[in-house]
Amino acid sequence: MKRVIRNADVLFAGRLQKKEVLFDGTSILEVSDKVTADAEEIDGTGLTLLPGLIDVHTHLREPGHEQKETIATGSKAAAAGGFTTIMAMPNIDPFPDNVETVSEYLKRIREKAVVNVLPYGTITCREAGQTASDYEGLKKLGIRWFSDDGVGVADEKVMLEAMRKAKENDVLFACHTEDMNYRRPGASVHEDAFAERMGWLGIPSACESAQLIRDLELVKQTGLRYHACHISAKESVEALRRAKAQGADVSGEVTVHHLLLENTDVRGTNWKMNPPLRTHEDRMSLIEALEDGTLDFIASDHAPHTEADKDKPMAQAAFGIVSLETSFALLYTEFVLHQQRWSLEQLVDWMSYLPAKRFGLGKKGKIEAGYDPDLVLVELGSERRIKAKDFFSKGKNTPFDGWAVRATVRETIVSGRSVYRIGGGMTK
Ligand SMILES: [Zn+2]
Repeated sequence: MKRVIRNADVLFAGRLQKKEVLFDGTSILEVSDKVTADAEEIDGTGLTLLPGLIDVHTHLREPGHEQKETIATGSKAAAAGGFTTIMAMPNIDPFPDNVETVSEYLKRIREKAVVNVLPYGTITCREAGQTASDYEGLKKLGIRWFSDDGVGVADEKVMLEAMRKAKENDVLFACHTEDMNYRRPGASVHEDAFAERMGWLGIPSACESAQLIRDLELVKQTGLRYHACHISAKESVEALRRAKAQGADVSGEVTVHHLLLENTDVRGTNWKMNPPLRTHEDRMSLIEALEDGTLDFIASDHAPHTEADKDKPMAQAAFGIVSLETSFALLYTEFVLHQQRWSLEQLVDWMSYLPAKRFGLGKKGKIEAGYDPDLVLVELGSERRIKAKDFFSKGKNTPFDGWAVRATVRETIVSGRSVYRIGGGMTK
């Protein structure tokens, strides 16, 4: 069935234009001033049409930790936040490190997800940092991205072997770098004078940057396609900048919270995540790195937890915050509207086309004939407050509860079908 969106401001050819967009279940068929084809109409009056957002870093927790999130609730949260494709990190149980487990996992996703969900395989079996997973077998199932997110691969020899094997199979590594030699038990926030004053144990920046620097050396030796997850420290930015200048095939992401918050903003366990919020100087270096292309795009690191996981002393509480339902609205409000530092087009590129391009996700991230019909209609301008209790996600663990934002997702379309409508809920 063909459908047409009329009367919306469409992000087309790099700017907002009054256009009409015709699509079916497979692709966008036409973007023009007047679509004459016979099609079901969607009225976009007063709304802005964007390509569906894409997030390469989410935690859906299923299977194994369904009390925190499921494929259904996490993908609903994605749709409500304007995301049409999300990638799921592999720290679940059982770990997606072999063909049998991943086949089952893919079946679960097909049954339950309301948006496109692409899972990662693990770099090492069970994320134990000892033996490389079956990249060749998993690639035959369509898995072309591997991560041990949550932990770094500590042993350099294991990482080198894994990278060689990954290079042979032409797959990408997305790495959480963390050298545990730098992290004391109970460390929760960025290590500096502020943490000390608050009585919290700190995590130094070197915890992230030391292992990233090691990885980038191994990338030089192996030529692997490498992506650095959730860069938080200025030292890491410098390392990535050097590697790029030397021609390495590397990219990096920055999360929404590291763009918006600093270590001195921390008020409790809903501000605790790994890597932690760092200093003002770090945050400014992340923003500049995104703007100069050292960092390639934005991800959420959506990390849902139960109330009990968070309702603990700082040292014991779980790391991570939920963000699928707040990411776009927060960044649009702060950087496009308030600071007028970024254009809407630039923000959407960082949240859609650029991650799709780097991860080889096909014709995604643009509203153009021939692209996938993954679209989101948003209302820009009118103010609302973020209400964590209303999230589709099982996780309500956000530091942004009560923040005023000026962007609201009205309708999310995946493969040509409306999967979310504000007020009308969600359809699978
Ligand atoms: Zn991580």
